[in-house]
Amino acid sequence: MMIPLQDILKELHPTHTQLVAVSKTKPIEQILEIYQQGQRVFGENIVQELVPKYEQLPKDIQWHLIGHLQTNKVKYVAPFVAMIESVDSFKILKEIDKQAAKNERVIDCLLEMKIAEEESKYGFTRQEVEDMLRAPEFSALHHIRICGVMGIGTFTEEEDQTRREFSGLKQFFDHLKSTYFAGQQHFREISMGMSDDYRIAIEQGSTMVRIGSLIFGERGVQ
Ligand SMILES: *Cc1c(COP(=O)(O)O)cnc(C)c1O
Repeated sequence: MMIPLQDILKELHPTHTQLVAVSKTKPIEQILEIYQQGQRVFGENIVQELVPKYEQLPKDIQWHLIGHLQTNKVKYVAPFVAMIESVDSFKILKEIDKQAAKNERVIDCLLEMKIAEEESKYGFTRQEVEDMLRAPEFSALHHIRICGVMGIGTFTEEEDQTRREFSGLKQFFDHLKSTYFAGQQHFREISMGMSDDYRIAIEQGSTMVRIGSLIFGERGVQ
């Protein structure tokens, strides 16, 4: 199923939820079509795919990296990426800071949390985040800005499970906001919700949904 971009935007409008159009695996021409309808924020999950798309597409696109990032790949996206939503370790955050400094930039980041009740590969646990935020080394990072959290819900028909996972992420965001990021205006994003669960995510307080197949069609079929 596909939904016209404008209809999705109408649905997001009342709650001011931002749309990240996830264009992974989709060709330049199809991305341009969505761009021409006014969309400016796009998400890609693989560095090798993101870089050539950045080079070929209009420069006012804000690219969000949403997939697991390897340390040796950070340097390729550091010059231009608008946000890295998939920061899943202290190690990668330090490398982002280092590469951002080289480019004389501050890179906006989200902390990817393990929220799925099923075993998920990437993401911080709550304890890991707390330990990192308290570490002196963390305070020494001046070229990253933590803007919030991101989570990927379990792929399931069980809406109550998805609801629990998203509500847990919202609670953890609120905790961080009131402790480590009190008074920091830029700490405001909860990136949750994809094609199959964005309505539940919005109901649970998402500020940013990452939608691919509803906009571009299923991947692997053209
Ligand atoms: C692919 C992807 C999406 C979009 O998935 P759809 O189900 O196509 O909407 C969102 N977030 C992440 C992290 C992804 O990898």
